[in-house]
Amino acid sequence: AAAFSQAFIDMPRPERPLKVAVIGAGLAGLSCAKYLSDAGHKPVVLEARDVLGGKVAAWQDKDGDWIETGLHIFFGAYPNVNQMFTELGIRDRLQWKSHSMIFAMPGQQTADGFQRFSRFEFPALLPAPLNGLVAILLNNEMLTFPEKIQFGIGLLPAILFGQKYVEECDSLTVSQWMKKQGVPDRVNDEVFIAMAKALNFIDPENLSMTVVLTALNRFLQETHGSKMAFLDGPPPTRLCQPMADHMIARGGELKMKQRIAEILLNDDTTVKGLKMQDGSTVVADAYVSTMPVDVLKLALPEEWKPMPYFEKLNGLNGVPVINIHLWFDRKLTTVDHLLFSRSPLLSVYADMSLTCKGYRDDDKSMLELVFAPAKDWIGKPDEEIIEATMEELYKLFPNELNKDGSGAQLLKSAVVKTPLSVYEATAGREMYRPVQTSPISNFFLAGCFTKQKYLASMEGATFSGKLAARALSDAAIAGTIPLQEAVAAVAA
Ligand code: FAD
Repeated sequence: AAAFSQAFIDMPRPERPLKVAVIGAGLAGLSCAKYLSDAGHKPVVLEARDVLGGKVAAWQDKDGDWIETGLHIFFGAYPNVNQMFTELGIRDRLQWKSHSMIFAMPGQQTADGFQRFSRFEFPALLPAPLNGLVAILLNNEMLTFPEKIQFGIGLLPAILFGQKYVEECDSLTVSQWMKKQGVPDRVNDEVFIAMAKALNFIDPENLSMTVVLTALNRFLQETHGSKMAFLDGPPPTRLCQPMADHMIARGGELKMKQRIAEILLNDDTTVKGLKMQDGSTVVADAYVSTMPVDVLKLALPEEWKPMPYFEKLNGLNGVPVINIHLWFDRKLTTVDHLLFSRSPLLSVYADMSLTCKGYRDDDKSMLELVFAPAKDWIGKPDEEIIEATMEELYKLFPNELNKDGSGAQLLKSAVVKTPLSVYEATAGREMYRPVQTSPISNFFLAGCFTKQKYLASMEGATFSGKLAARALSDAAIAGTIPLQEAVAAVAA
């Protein structure tokens, strides 16, 4: 990742820097703009909303408390994101937690009545994959020894045949793969329901096995791959703004509340300009869309729709997810980490008053919880969603929360619904993910749904932006992007 970044700085400076309109100031857009500016070009980032970050956006409520679009976890196996923090000089903003994966055991209590957890502890002194294998072998609460062995045997082809096998497994769901490999159902139920919901907000009956194998591969190959970090505050101010500042300092521009309404075309179907919702037009030498796939599909010009590259976008759709914040009048837990809930309605959760320095509170808890799968809930009123969440929490916090109201009191809540979030990674989706270079010479794509070896994640988004910046910079050097003055001269 460091060498890939350095390549932008080492590129020959363009004789005439390109003006590049980057649509969207999520992580893909900001990453693309950052690296374009490193390569000597002039990105103009156009963001529809008044807040940076897209799916990592956050804003303050009337009390000054932060509301986030999603509970976000950074992994050791995020080379491009970690490199971004290094390049921006903000590595200290990542708060790394102990190298463990912690699963709740709903309904189960310790002898003194507290919630029980089951931990996978990765020993610090062992390299990968030994640390992962020891973590799995030492956990006896969730899986029996024979179940672990059967799962290990099931994984052998992935270990032996590597990436090719991982990609082939896209034709199977997690559940189908488990059956095919003779892995007992309990492994699916105990571990992979929680993992599938955390990876893509859907169940193993739907999730592509490629997604799970991609994550496992990284975790088993990199000693710190599964180590997790929380950002020390809201992503827009702690990560997105420094990314924007970097490119602005190098001549780039950031324009907020600039929603593109239409992509305008030249006669040869290259992009002529962007019609903005306020009626103005933005003209640039090249254009990068980082809009989510569902929005992009709606924005495609009619002339592009029959092209196979754009046509296949119809195979990708965003998945619904809900992020919930609950503020309590006292501390519910002392666990400073991400927790896999293993509850039917919830995915992962964390007490942000402990895990995140910026939200620290020594007396009260603020739980942030991901509610998934959310298909049947996304249209329901917030009150119903909170009520259902509280029902799950009575099982997760049997000692701290009581239905009769005698335990901790819920002070306030916030529900953030994202009806179309990351693309739904059901089996067979990989072939629909587009590469960053489109058949249109001055139009590029980035976004976590575009083709790259990381999943629909912050790493995937950041890397896709970097790949698009590289493809565009290379095209500029090769002279395949028509400069605006040349286009104007031909038109005249
Ligand atoms: P986006 O963030 O969607 O950015 C697209 C941008 O385009 C937005 O800012 C949008 O406003 C803008 N835009 C759209 N239309 C227009 C228009 N017409 N004109 C101008 N601008 C426009 N990833 C992890 O790695 N770890 C996690 O723990 C994790 N948890 C998550 C939890 C939740 C609840 C959610 C929703 C996501 C989570 N993710 C996680 C995924 C991660 O947030 C995304 O993969 C990533 O942020 C996507 O970035 P992006 O730039 O591709 O897209």
